[in-house]
Amino acid sequence: MSRPCPCTSKKTYDRCCEPFILGKKQPQTAEQLMRSRFTAYALRKVDYLVATTDEAKRAELDPEDLASYCASIACVSLKIVATELGGPNDETGVVKFHASLQYGGKRTLHIERSTFARENGAWVYVDGETN
Ligand SMILES: [Zn+2]
Repeated sequence: MSRPCPCTSKKTYDRCCEPFILGKKQPQTAEQLMRSRFTAYALRKVDYLVATTDEAKRAELDPEDLASYCASIACVSLKIVATELGGPNDETGVVKFHASLQYGGKRTLHIERSTFARENGAWVYVDGETN
């Protein structure tokens, strides 16, 4: 028996994001990476969040800040609104999503258009525009 994946894909965790977070498999698409990063926020997998961030930004990340951010929110659900490229044969990709979060006792909707690229063949998060 396995629990539902936190990325709210309706798949079980072991058949969805877990193999990526454990490093057993690499996401084939930008959307898979995006989902697994949402799951990593939900499960406070800071190392995974750092490892899947673009090299140029990685040095700026403070794992302790990330950990306290993860601890301060509850990741309620994720909805992928649109994707551009980001497929198994693409080098870049864009994923638009709505992340429903609980923060300070309030439900908030985080809307973001994230850009992804490949680093040594693996998808990484480059940056995002929020509105
Ligand atoms: Zn998942």
